[in-house]
Amino acid sequence: MTPAAEIQKGPVARLAEIEAEIAVAAEEAGRKPADVQLIAVSKTFDAPQITPVLEAGQRRFGENRVQEAAGKWPALRQQFADVELHLIGPLQSNKTREAVELFDAIHSIDRPKIARGIAEEMAKQGRKLKLFVQVNTGEEAQKAGVLPRELPALLALCRDELGLTIDGLMCIPPVDEEPAIHFAFLAKLAAENDMAGLSMGMSDDFATAVAFGATHVRVGSAIFGGRS
Ligand SMILES: *Cc1c(COP(=O)(O)O)cnc(C)c1O
Repeated sequence: MTPAAEIQKGPVARLAEIEAEIAVAAEEAGRKPADVQLIAVSKTFDAPQITPVLEAGQRRFGENRVQEAAGKWPALRQQFADVELHLIGPLQSNKTREAVELFDAIHSIDRPKIARGIAEEMAKQGRKLKLFVQVNTGEEAQKAGVLPRELPALLALCRDELGLTIDGLMCIPPVDEEPAIHFAFLAKLAAENDMAGLSMGMSDDFATAVAFGATHVRVGSAIFGGRS
């Protein structure tokens, strides 16, 4: 397809293509397509762009900022009550209360303070979120995520002291490295620590992530188009 034709396609057509590509990648890996959950990453897009995707039946969405999500999702949820909202960006401790109120899943637990805050707020609010620990698999200085060597201690805190169920691990591979290496590493860490969930794979590499066991792929621009 020419780039011009690709641009003319709307998010609903692209959503269907991504779903089909996920299904093919799953089947090629001997996995069930239903075992891979597509999170449509709607950050920077507003209700007019998100609504058609909701109307097409997509219910799982990802946002990377609490404030931005709080500005648009409560209204969208009045129309689509069964939306499942995933926080995929870094969480600041002063936003924990709001994050636990708004989101159904948090993918970015990466330090004790955040884990404690989430545990406290879930207890206070009587809410139970799906939780992922973000791992800085590339050990990049500027990137969020717990270092691999510090993962066991953080998981022990979450589980033994805070009584949290951690559903899986999340990573964002370094841009200049082969993502497969990071996906394989994250899968190994999850298996070693008895977790089934793997949040990995974005627009450019979700098929590879599915081959390496992703249970949640976070796809933004391939559905909604480029972000300014
Ligand atoms: C923005 C974002 C994505 C989606 O990225 P695309 O390349 O647009 O698919 C996935 N994960 C995280 C954590 C993000 O911030």
